[in-house]
Amino acid sequence: MDIHEHQAKEILARFGVPVPRGGLAWSPEQAAYRARELGGDGWVVKAQIHAGGRGAAGGVKLCRSLHDVTDTATRLLGQQLVTKQTDAQGKSVSRLWIEAATEIARELYLGFVLDRKTERIMIVASAHGGIEIEDLAESDPDSLRRMTIDPAVGLAEYQARELAFSLGLAGPQIGQMVTILKACYRAYRDLDATMVEINPLIITAHGELVALDAKMSFDTNALFRRPEIAGLRDREQEDPRESAAGDHGLAYVGLTGDIGCIINGAGLAMASMDMIKLAGGEPANFLDIGGGASPERVVRAFRTVLTDPGVSVILVNIFAGINRCDWVAEGVVQAYREVGLTLPVVVRLAGTNVEEGNRIIRESGLPLITADTLADAAAKAVAARPPRLAA
Ligand code: GDP
Ligand code: MN
Repeated sequence: MDIHEHQAKEILARFGVPVPRGGLAWSPEQAAYRARELGGDGWVVKAQIHAGGRGAAGGVKLCRSLHDVTDTATRLLGQQLVTKQTDAQGKSVSRLWIEAATEIARELYLGFVLDRKTERIMIVASAHGGIEIEDLAESDPDSLRRMTIDPAVGLAEYQARELAFSLGLAGPQIGQMVTILKACYRAYRDLDATMVEINPLIITAHGELVALDAKMSFDTNALFRRPEIAGLRDREQEDPRESAAGDHGLAYVGLTGDIGCIINGAGLAMASMDMIKLAGGEPANFLDIGGGASPERVVRAFRTVLTDPGVSVILVNIFAGINRCDWVAEGVVQAYREVGLTLPVVVRLAGTNVEEGNRIIRESGLPLITADTLADAAAKAVAARPPRLAA
């Protein structure tokens, strides 16, 4: 789960990371009020969306007058902001973070991620921040410093100092960097985060280290024990289809093709998508009904897939281990009748109670297309698509 920049900054500040003073605004009037409240003669108006790359897309603006703050807020609020990290629809801007402008002397990069290879939290840092980590990895890979943290020991003081030195910091900045590294590590670990990123971490004109931007993501499987984090969720920033599916315990990822896929298990889902592409089709989504799917769950899966108007065929591909083919088959039949389906549906069942499942499908009398193998199912789904109308 992602959160907004201002929320990440509030969290990191609680752990001891220095951040600029700022305030939240939901309207242009409030933005100007916040700026007046902060004082000074420079403010940064920052669109709060769950994506980076805002600066290059006009979502971060340095303003020199209250008038400019109001104008910028008017322009940004209600906008769909498209950045390099969003899709073509962009993300809607309904809140702004108004910050006292800071003078930048240097920009660094600092990130905390989970390194699956070592099964440890890894720090990634660079003396050249302010650009996306992916671009940095391409343009200046030698500048990247990596360090893994032993969970039994935590982030050791000497490690933090070593990292600070390797970034070219000196004097009081070493101590500041150690404080920031330890704070981020504790926030990451104590709150079940999966990512903390400060880009840029700046050195101000006065030589102070300050987090000018902040990003945090959290492990959704741990949210049950982090109610204060769960409360930061902003559904408006999520794909409505994905959040609706999530509410029903289904994992849904929206794609751009026209073959709706109802599958159990992420591995089988990915294999099925490959097979669809190989057969010349494009998946509309990736819907994982998981293990132990009841008929009701299968019906919900159909309803979820059908909310996408681009779907013209549905492919059900189940390899039942924990699941039962007869339950899935009952769900398919029930969904077909309840929803009043008119689209072609291809069903491929394998595993537990497959004979019973296939019997239910056969005896339903519904025009369901059955398939034996994954390749067969993909080919039949592609073939069942209605012919495209000439443009
Ligand atoms: P992102 O583009 O979504 O990652 O948004 P950031 O919060 O990182 O802002 C983008 C860029 O705006 C930063 O890399 C800075 O160069 C610039 N910026 C943000 N805040 C300030 C500020 O207070 N003063 C100055 N001079 N530049 C800023
Ligand atoms: Mn940034």
